[in-house]
Amino acid sequence: MSRIKKDKPRIGISACLLGQPVRYNRGQTHQKWLTRELSRHVDFIPFCPEMEMGLGVPREEMHLYLRNDGSVGIKTKRTEKDMTHLVEENYQKIHDKLLTSMPDGLILMRKSPSCAPSDVVAMGEDQKIKFTSGLFAEKLMQDFPHLPIIDSGKIQNEELREIFLKKVWAHFRFENLEPKISQLQDFHKRYKFVLLEHHQIKMRQLGDLAANRNNEQIHKIFEDYKSLFFTTLSMPPKTGNRIDSMAHILGFIKKDLSSTDKIYMAELLNNFKMGKLPYQVPLHIIKFLIHKYDIEYLKDHYIFSPALPS
Ligand code: SF4
Repeated sequence: MSRIKKDKPRIGISACLLGQPVRYNRGQTHQKWLTRELSRHVDFIPFCPEMEMGLGVPREEMHLYLRNDGSVGIKTKRTEKDMTHLVEENYQKIHDKLLTSMPDGLILMRKSPSCAPSDVVAMGEDQKIKFTSGLFAEKLMQDFPHLPIIDSGKIQNEELREIFLKKVWAHFRFENLEPKISQLQDFHKRYKFVLLEHHQIKMRQLGDLAANRNNEQIHKIFEDYKSLFFTTLSMPPKTGNRIDSMAHILGFIKKDLSSTDKIYMAELLNNFKMGKLPYQVPLHIIKFLIHKYDIEYLKDHYIFSPALPS
């Protein structure tokens, strides 16, 4: 278990998204939100697979193609030169750069035959189509299975962006834990209500792992916990689970609430259930009540942390 202390999360990113002129036509696809806002909270690790392949700029545009055996290769669009071997030969450089930097997430250029994590079209000679990942992205996803990943299109959707950032911060916090069972138990306690929103049974299984009743080796506990934790966070939160989670939290302050307050909170939760209120509204009010009634046990729970620290 190699853990390094980091001040802030690190995100591996397709270099063209930061404005670096590395696209085939010397262009870039700068997303200003990344450099103006997100860069204040994270460190970026930029990389460009096609530059690592030694192709330089400008270069001929490439696309994926489907072979007769169902595998996917990459070739230049105009001259139809097969470049798949260059992926094999150069992937390791990007892999090692990321491994050394220990990223907490990846933001990858959509639709790129090298970088996109999904939805790239590979066409066969018989016009058969397969939707797949860019060739470098596919390898990265295999080698870093628990790393949160999003593409440059999805990150513009506020809800998907929040889910991605929530996972990035969880990864950062997990990797910053010291290899002690007490640290894992505290981590689990603070993520309990987040996990409850995603999957109730898995939240309990994670609690059992963190309890380490069988006295397993710390390395194994951390690996097993990490795998199940990020699998659980990848499951979309359900409205019913979110209501259960908030009702559970309200249980800690019910003795402080007047009967009018209780009716009001029940109405809020019901309105959220019916889709009349966004999730953040009841959650913010519960956070306010926890601070008002000074419920120490709940103040540091990550369910109340914003997607980006203020
Ligand atoms: S999409 Fe990937 S390979 Fe293409 S220019 Fe951007 S970083 Fe380079």
